[in-house]
Amino acid sequence: MIDYALTDDQVMIRDLARKITEEKIIPARAELDEQEVFPSDILNIMAQSDLMGLYIPEEYGGFGGGVFEFCLATEEFSKGCIGVSVSFAANALGSGPILMFGSEEQKKKYLPDIAAGKKWAAFGLTEPNAGSDAGGVQTTAVLDGNEYVLNGTKQWITNGGEADVYTVVAITDKNKGSRGASMFIVEKDTPGFSFGKKEKKMGIRCSATRELIFEDCRIPKENLIGKEGMGFLITMKNLDKSRPGIAAQGVGLAQGALDYAVKYSKERQQFGKPIIAIQAVQFMLADMATQTEAARALLYSVARSIDSGIKDYTKESAMVKLFATDVAMRVAVDAVQVMGGYGYMREYPLEKMMRDAKILQIYEGTNQIQRGVVGSKLVKEAISRK
Ligand SMILES: Cc1cc2nc3c(=O)[nH]c(=O)nc-3n(C[C@H](O)[C@H](O)[C@H](O)COP(=O)(O)OP(=O)(O)OC[C@H]3O[C@@H](n4cnc5c(N)ncnc54)[C@H](O)[C@@H]3O)c2cc1C
Repeated sequence: MIDYALTDDQVMIRDLARKITEEKIIPARAELDEQEVFPSDILNIMAQSDLMGLYIPEEYGGFGGGVFEFCLATEEFSKGCIGVSVSFAANALGSGPILMFGSEEQKKKYLPDIAAGKKWAAFGLTEPNAGSDAGGVQTTAVLDGNEYVLNGTKQWITNGGEADVYTVVAITDKNKGSRGASMFIVEKDTPGFSFGKKEKKMGIRCSATRELIFEDCRIPKENLIGKEGMGFLITMKNLDKSRPGIAAQGVGLAQGALDYAVKYSKERQQFGKPIIAIQAVQFMLADMATQTEAARALLYSVARSIDSGIKDYTKESAMVKLFATDVAMRVAVDAVQVMGGYGYMREYPLEKMMRDAKILQIYEGTNQIQRGVVGSKLVKEAISRK
């Protein structure tokens, strides 16, 4: 086993998250998936265990950790259920703009409640006509006296309807292209702010994915984060910091699937012996284990680099998101294969893991987009070396 030299605090966080996964998430996951119920009870247990504010500084009531501590907990929860772990992780994505670019007043107003798990957060970028092309955002925010008036619709927002605090990208100057977007905080019960239907999904079914609908929704002008025109910059920085969390979901899911496949193959007898004694099965398990460990090693080193204070980690963040989530998909498919027909049955957790794994290659920027990000950074680096 690789020694990742975790500190005592990090071991404590991992073990606490592991305990919640084993005692609360794993026993409930099939039912949560089947009934498509939002896992608020489990999120409340995470909050009582002080895990909601892992990445929030102590002065705002958090644990004072970084991306690494957040990823450790996310990895553990993801061994159990991605629907639960994304509901946890979306809080970091939603509060990231406030944490990184908010004013002191905004931080003091929102972060302590998010750290305590009294309020949940969500991030609203995507729209029906603006997915990979985030520059196509059409939601508008018009300044009217001391208020901004928001109009438009955000689509597929994780924690939509469940979260209390939303960070939302809207256009403040349509003549300025990507420099015409701004970032706002919108609170749940603001008049003119409502939610569309809960989406029916292939996987992560217990997570809430809904539209955010703004109809002449008036918010105080103090809810602008940073300055007008900073919306895309804040979005990109927020995604850079958050993508290792998606990688952590991938590593956790892959490990959970591998562990289940190993356990099953020790028990399943064919040809008078456990199938784990068959070399073809061992080779599959060996590839799954090797890829999972490689993804974890990359994740931990990227998360540690970010926490060490490096300024530009766009490329590394994209690399680990795409690598770890492609691994998760492959490992989940192979884990089902190791179980044969049983793997296909809903009685066992691997078919759910395979359905859940697919979203990891899609959200927070598809893996094609991540390859584009890595590729364009390589081009820039090559030009600057000339
Ligand atoms: C369950 C779920 C939860 C989500 N949660 C959130 C959330 O909390 N907040 C939020 O803002 N958004 C959220 N999203 C949106 C998600 O980030 C987008 O779905 C994703 O970025 C892709 O956009 P799209 O679905 O519109 O695909 P499209 O952009 O339409 O892409 C379709 C296909 O074309 C490819 N493609 C498009 N452009 C390029 C390109 N330039 N180069 C190469 N390939 C390209 C894509 O890779 C993909 O294969 C969520 C989505 C889902 C499904």
